[in-house]
Amino acid sequence: MMRTATRLAVLAALALHGCTKPVTYDLVVAGGRVMDPATSTDAVRHLGIIGDSIAIVSAEPLAGRDTVDATGLVVAPGFIDLHAHGQTTGDMQVQARDGVTTALDMEAGASPVASWYQSMEGKAPLNFGASAGHRPARFGVFHPGVAIGHGSTNPGPIVALGPQPAGANQPATPEQIAQLEAVLTQGLAEGGLGLGFGINYSPGATREEIERLFAVAARHRVPAFVHTRAFGVAPIREVVEIAAKVGASLHVVHVNSSSLGDLPLSLALLDSARAAGMDVTTEAYPYTAGSTRLESAMFNPGWQANLQVDYGDIAWPLTGERLTATTFAKYRRQGGWVVIHMMKEENVERAIAHPGVMIASDGVPFINGTGHPRGAGTYARILGHYVRERQLLSLMDALAKMTILPARRLESFVPEMARRGRIAPGAFADLTMFDAATVRDRSTFMEPMLTSTGIPHVLVNGTFVVRNGELVESARPGRPVRSTLRTP
Ligand SMILES: [Zn+2]
Repeated sequence: MMRTATRLAVLAALALHGCTKPVTYDLVVAGGRVMDPATSTDAVRHLGIIGDSIAIVSAEPLAGRDTVDATGLVVAPGFIDLHAHGQTTGDMQVQARDGVTTALDMEAGASPVASWYQSMEGKAPLNFGASAGHRPARFGVFHPGVAIGHGSTNPGPIVALGPQPAGANQPATPEQIAQLEAVLTQGLAEGGLGLGFGINYSPGATREEIERLFAVAARHRVPAFVHTRAFGVAPIREVVEIAAKVGASLHVVHVNSSSLGDLPLSLALLDSARAAGMDVTTEAYPYTAGSTRLESAMFNPGWQANLQVDYGDIAWPLTGERLTATTFAKYRRQGGWVVIHMMKEENVERAIAHPGVMIASDGVPFINGTGHPRGAGTYARILGHYVRERQLLSLMDALAKMTILPARRLESFVPEMARRGRIAPGAFADLTMFDAATVRDRSTFMEPMLTSTGIPHVLVNGTFVVRNGELVESARPGRPVRSTLRTP
C-alpha cells in the first residue's frame, strides 16, 4: 500500500490537473451532519478518508472500500481531552466510548518523560501524551533513585515514601531548583507537552520556585498547566501574577473545582488577564465532586478549610463509604483515590457555559470498576445534559470547547495539533459520530465506569475504536503526541 502522504500528494496532483477519474477512498463517512467548529461548518457532507487522514469533504456522495452510514448523526472532530489522568489502555477504551480521540495529561504530567512515552508504545487506543510534570520531577530530585514516570497511573513509588514525603512538602534548595530547571527542560526536549504543575500537591514549592519554573516555560514558549496552590480565587491570582511577571502562557486546570464558591471571581480574573493581553486559558468538568489521592499533600492538616468540606463529604469508592476521622487516617496511610463532594451545581454550569472555557475530564484511573464518573461520561454529559436538556450552550459552542479550542491551545508548540480538532482535507481522521437526540452519559458515583451511549462510531487516525456502538477491543491506533522543543 502506498504511504498515506504519497497517496495524498497523488490525489492533490490529480485534482490540480482537473483529472476526473473517480477516487476510491479507504473509508467513506457518508451523509452525516458535519459540524466543524473551526470553520462553523454545519451541513450534510461526505468524508473520504485515505490512510490516517481526511482526503476530501464533499457535498456529493463518494465511493469507498468501506463505508459508514452517518445519516442522522453528527460527525464532529474527535474530542481532545487536555486533562486525562487515566493513561492506560482500559481507561482510554472507556473514554473512547465517550467520544474522546486524544487523551493528554497536562496537569500531573510525567518525569522522566521519554521513558514514560516509550512505556505507552503500542498500548494506546487514543492519541496520548503528557506534560513534563513538576511534581514527579520534584520527587525525583528529592528522592534520588525514585523515578515516578506518570504518577496518576503509577502512584506506588509516592505511596511507598510514606506520609509527608520531602518531594511534596519540603522547600527546594537553590541547587534543587536548578536541578528542577534542568529536569523540566530535559522533559520538554523529550517531547513533554509544556510544563504541568499541581502546586497544592507540592506545598513545599515556594513562590520563588514556581516563578523560576514558569520562567522555563516562558523561555521555551510553552504554557504552564497549573492546579493552583489552594482553592478559591486568591491562588489563581498568584499564578496569573507569576505568569505575567515572567511572560509565561498559563492554563488553569479545572476552574470549577479550583475556584469553589469564588468561580465568578475566577472567571472575571482570567477574562481580564486575557483582555490585558496575557495568554491565559482554563477548563472545567461537568460534575460537582472532585477526585484525588488521599495520601497526597492536598490532605495535609488544614484540608477542611482549604477544600471547604469535612470528613463526611469524602467518599471512599472501593466501599462506597463516607469517611470519618478514623477511616480518614487509616485510608490515608494506605493510599488511594477518594471522591470529594465540594461544588455547587450553579457554579459548574457557569464554568461550562462561559465563553472560552474548555471541557476537560480530569478523569482518574478506574480501579476494580471504581473511580469518578467523569472518566467515562464527561463529554456525553455535556452534549446530553447541558446542551440538549439544560440548553445551557449551543451544540456548536460545546463542540468547540472539546475540539478546536484545546487543539489551538497546543498548536504553537505541538505542530501536529494543527491537523487535529477539525474536519478538513489533510486533517487526521479523528472523528466522533453521535446522535444529538440520544447521546448521554450513564456513569454515576455509584457506577462510575458505565460507558456513554449515543456515540456509535469513533475513529482515531482513520481506524475505528468504536463501531456500531461497540468497542473495537483490539484497536490501538493511538499515537504519541509530542511537543517540538523551541529553543530560547
Ligand atoms: Zn487537579
